[in-house]
Amino acid sequence: MRILVLIAIGLLLYMIIGSFLRKQKRQQLESESPAEKMVSCQHCGLHILEQEAVQAANKFYCSASHLEADQQDK
Ligand SMILES: [Zn+2]
Repeated sequence: MRILVLIAIGLLLYMIIGSFLRKQKRQQLESESPAEKMVSCQHCGLHILEQEAVQAANKFYCSASHLEADQQDK
């Protein structure tokens, strides 16, 4: 009978540690991916992620062609 008690305690510990590790992992993932910043294209107004936008002189564009088009307009 003693071995059954040991198995039960082992399973309980395994479940507690497992859920603790999962919780920690989830918190780590959340802190590693902050909300991504959106910017709008100066030429067409399209919203894009800042990291995907083309930047020139503190202005953002959805593509290099809109950057050129906007500079030609002025
Ligand atoms: Zn655009």
